[in-house]
Amino acid sequence: MTTVIDLRSDTVTQPTAGMRAAMAAAPLGDDVFGDDPSVNALQDKIAGLLGFEAALFVPTGTQSNLCAILSHCQRGDEYLVGQMAHCYRWEAGGGAVFGSVQPQPISHQADGTLALADIEAAIKPDDPHFARSRMLALENTLGGKLLPMEYVEQATTLARNKGLNRHLDGARLFNAAVAQAAKLGSDAKTEARRIAGCFDSVSVCFSKGLGAPVGSALCGSRDFIARARRVRKMAGGAMRQSGLLAAAASYALDHHVDRMAQDHQLAQRLADGLQGVQGLQVEAPQTNIMFVDLTGEARQQSQGLLDHLAARGVLATGLYRLRFATHLDVDPAGVDRAVTAIREFFKA
Ligand SMILES: *Cc1c(COP(=O)(O)O)cnc(C)c1O
Repeated sequence: MTTVIDLRSDTVTQPTAGMRAAMAAAPLGDDVFGDDPSVNALQDKIAGLLGFEAALFVPTGTQSNLCAILSHCQRGDEYLVGQMAHCYRWEAGGGAVFGSVQPQPISHQADGTLALADIEAAIKPDDPHFARSRMLALENTLGGKLLPMEYVEQATTLARNKGLNRHLDGARLFNAAVAQAAKLGSDAKTEARRIAGCFDSVSVCFSKGLGAPVGSALCGSRDFIARARRVRKMAGGAMRQSGLLAAAASYALDHHVDRMAQDHQLAQRLADGLQGVQGLQVEAPQTNIMFVDLTGEARQQSQGLLDHLAARGVLATGLYRLRFATHLDVDPAGVDRAVTAIREFFKA
């Protein structure tokens, strides 16, 4: 049987042999008592790497963002956030449901940013008519797009000057850092720290491009993380011998950051391979996620295309706008197979 090329998401990766060995060898304790050495080591490692006092290992990025919203904001507060941001649109309204914290969504510009004027206009004056504007949430990467560093500095400076807390949903922070490092001739960990330095809290997913099976970390000040720990408990996310999972995340930080450059090259290879196909409009990828819009008659064919690809062992998702994500378990031959299968469908 030919292997399946799964381009639906970068969450589908299998732990590597090295990662499994690190998990098997991890010393474990009960993290609710605070004595799982592997969890503590991971929390110290990611906090140190990103320049924060403390970090908290949580099961998912959704819970990490929830912990951040509920630790920065009180009932009756609001957070400013992009219309397409994960912590507004894709997390079932958790901040509102569990915390009575109102989101104030803001439309994105074409490059994924929120216009500074729109942020400023959305911040409410201190007046009993309004919810209290308490936090700005940015996301980097957003839909695979790298936010310009200068923009991140400007937006977070504006937020700080207005007295807002600043949270980064950095589920794919290391993809952003690798792309930014390539632009600047710098290294990824330096760039990750530079981006993170603009925020009061940062959430990072280990289960996306970093290739770990489970887990995210929330980073911030010691006080902030103490509040987040209570929210994690409330949300049912305080785990026991979770060092087994933390060891995988730790291994990923040591071995899987710089290699993301290959994922970015593969997304570009896929985009290059699809140039000139009638009915496909390819958006140039900046990191590991590539979007393809189906145009004209092809718009009616998206399910047919996905079925055609699946029958050839190539998995993708989307409707009208298809999404392809490259990751640890995709290689150049797999990308070429995807290109061939798509071209075959369009007889291009
Ligand atoms: C995947 C993702 C999350 C949430 O991660 P889960 O672990 O699936 O809950 C949060 N933010 C962004 C930007 C993501 O891509």
